[in-house]
Amino acid sequence: MRSDPADYQMVALGRLQDVVALLAAEPGTWLPIAGGTDVMVQYAAGTLPSRKLVSIWNLPELRRIDVLPHELCVGAGCTYTDLREQEIVRNEFSLLATAASWTGGIANQNRGTLGGNIVNASPAADSLPALLAYEAQLILVSVRGERRLPYVDFHTGYKKTKLASDELIRAVCLPRRVSGYFSYTRKVGARNAQAISKVCIAAVADIAGKVIQDVRIAVGSVAPIPLRLSQTEKTVTGKPVEPSLFALAKKTAMAETRPIDDIRSTARYRAAVVGNLVVEFLEKLSAGKQR
Ligand SMILES: Cc1cc2nc3c(=O)[nH]c(=O)nc-3n(C[C@H](O)[C@H](O)[C@H](O)COP(=O)(O)OP(=O)(O)OC[C@H]3O[C@@H](n4cnc5c(N)ncnc54)[C@H](O)[C@@H]3O)c2cc1C
Repeated sequence: MRSDPADYQMVALGRLQDVVALLAAEPGTWLPIAGGTDVMVQYAAGTLPSRKLVSIWNLPELRRIDVLPHELCVGAGCTYTDLREQEIVRNEFSLLATAASWTGGIANQNRGTLGGNIVNASPAADSLPALLAYEAQLILVSVRGERRLPYVDFHTGYKKTKLASDELIRAVCLPRRVSGYFSYTRKVGARNAQAISKVCIAAVADIAGKVIQDVRIAVGSVAPIPLRLSQTEKTVTGKPVEPSLFALAKKTAMAETRPIDDIRSTARYRAAVVGNLVVEFLEKLSAGKQR
């Protein structure tokens, strides 16, 4: 049962260095709260892991977007609305802008942050397949300084991450290597907005003539963590994108997912949808149609 609000303490320190100093001084005691869209659900359910909250909402260091020649670094405190409104995100990282447009409703998009989506670690989170497809890197910050971690290594199991108790995600960096690639993304759910995905997919590919040179396919809601379909990628790389490849790609993709039955769907349905979406991606790649 939810306890009295008076049992909770919340502080807003206003500077990143003060927040990380507090996290280091009392490790595991303070829970960062950004937009609060996941934290408040946990609060209402009485499952918050701590009664001491430190606000990281609107910290300038987490809100900046740095456009560098080789990468785009998006502050972890950027909201879905920020992502949708940024021209460079829409133009060069459209998978992320589209995922942002699918996340909850407008109110949720005005508060929910990219960093919160990553740390909340839901296998169904909509922005995470895009981060896998773009081979994002995370910048983690603590009083010890900063470290970089490939996003693919961040989630180690269901709701488990490599974030230390005194660390924050400061930024998410997206290499600008795939600007000319074909992109494809879909969310399969009861509806696009205000519904948790049954399956979501984000993929990019580069082809020369008809031959696939480079491909990255990532899926959500079909394993304990968002998954890169590496076997499927290996199967199709270097091959002409034509109907004879589709059946093999579908079989490989279905075999490498690890879905479960739950309230939203069955494992069998999810595996079948992954196979069908991989085929749709290859068909559109072959026809040169963006989705
Ligand atoms: C009505 C509703 C609809 C939703 N729909 C969707 C949807 O369609 N798709 C989807 O993917 N999600 C959805 N969500 C989930 C949620 O909005 C996202 O996960 C959001 O991105 C969380 O961000 P936040 O800033 O609100 O995180 P918070 O709630 O503030 O924090 C979540 C967790 O992340 C930690 N955290 C936050 N930022 C950082 C940081 N920079 N460094 C370290 N730790 C941090 C917090 O300590 C906490 O553990 C929905 C939620 C609601 C309430």
